[in-house]
Amino acid sequence: MNQRRATAEFDIIRRYFSALTPSRDDVDLGIGDDAALLLAPRGMGLALSIDTLVAGVHFFPDVSPASLGYKALAVNLSDLAAMGAEPAWATLALTLPQIDESWIAAFSQGFAALAGQYGVQLVGGDTTYGPMSITVQVQGFVPAGEGLRRSGARAGDDIFVTGSLGDAALALNRLQRGLPEPPDAVLLKERLERPQPRVEAGLALRDVATSAIDISDGLLADLGRVLEASGVGARLELVNIPLSKAVAAEVHATGDWSIGVAGGDDYELCFTLPPGRRSQVNELSGRLNLSMTRIGRIEETPGLRCFGMDGGLWAPSHDGYEHFSANG
Ligand code: ADP
Ligand code: MG
Repeated sequence: MNQRRATAEFDIIRRYFSALTPSRDDVDLGIGDDAALLLAPRGMGLALSIDTLVAGVHFFPDVSPASLGYKALAVNLSDLAAMGAEPAWATLALTLPQIDESWIAAFSQGFAALAGQYGVQLVGGDTTYGPMSITVQVQGFVPAGEGLRRSGARAGDDIFVTGSLGDAALALNRLQRGLPEPPDAVLLKERLERPQPRVEAGLALRDVATSAIDISDGLLADLGRVLEASGVGARLELVNIPLSKAVAAEVHATGDWSIGVAGGDDYELCFTLPPGRRSQVNELSGRLNLSMTRIGRIEETPGLRCFGMDGGLWAPSHDGYEHFSANG
């Protein structure tokens, strides 16, 4: 790569990204110098999370760049949400096979749409040539010692999830099989490509929940991580798992719950709290206009036990869920 050409092309990128996102008072110096200078509020801890999306692994190379820009930030904001942290800043490392200005314009617009929604300022990044990969790091604030951890679930706690599960997995499944587009395809694709990070819910749950995780690898795998970190087990009532019409139809047609409980990429929150706080969840759900459904209970016995319609134990049709155990 000719050095002068690379410098000129990277200037294009800086131009697209420098005034893209909201200007925050706690940013002393953003994009343009050797490092950003940031002012964390007194008494606040910093929550920090990073995620990489690789073409062909995490997204189809021909996915809309606007959706990709949106999702690269969304998956990170979802991690902050699961900690009960308030998003503030982001950095972006782009590895691109070539500089295509219209691609970058669309990507940056997708990124900016979500950043604007949460007042997140992009404060720096890096740009290199290579096989396409996108890394976003986000930083947020959480009062010192108050972050929502995976390790706080206790026997007797209720288990809740936000929204509905399996939509993204069903959309991906249809894309992979090249199935014809049904009427609900647009909605499902939106769930796959533009997941809504549950930031407000995470913030509000900080004082209510005993543990939380965001569902990126499927409910069973992610809840399994909470159980392991907390040294507890759980029972799930499958009939209570919130499913969209499309996913419910798929589960009904195949007789297999896997798409709902083992499909990834939903970015809903799974959280636990003592039954005495159910009314707080109801109040919160109403206030945020976001469904929060009770799906099971934390138990002392390790392992995850799923009960189906008939009241019998159910295990997924394929294994590979590290933390799953049908027998406790
Ligand atoms: P250096 O060589 O000193 O690291 P760079 O040329 O990599 O400088 O970056 C110059 C400025 O542009 C820095 O402030 C950097 O944070 C910013 N920057 C570069 N690439 C991106 C990007 N993809 N997104 C946001 N900011 C970027
Ligand atoms: Mg650099």
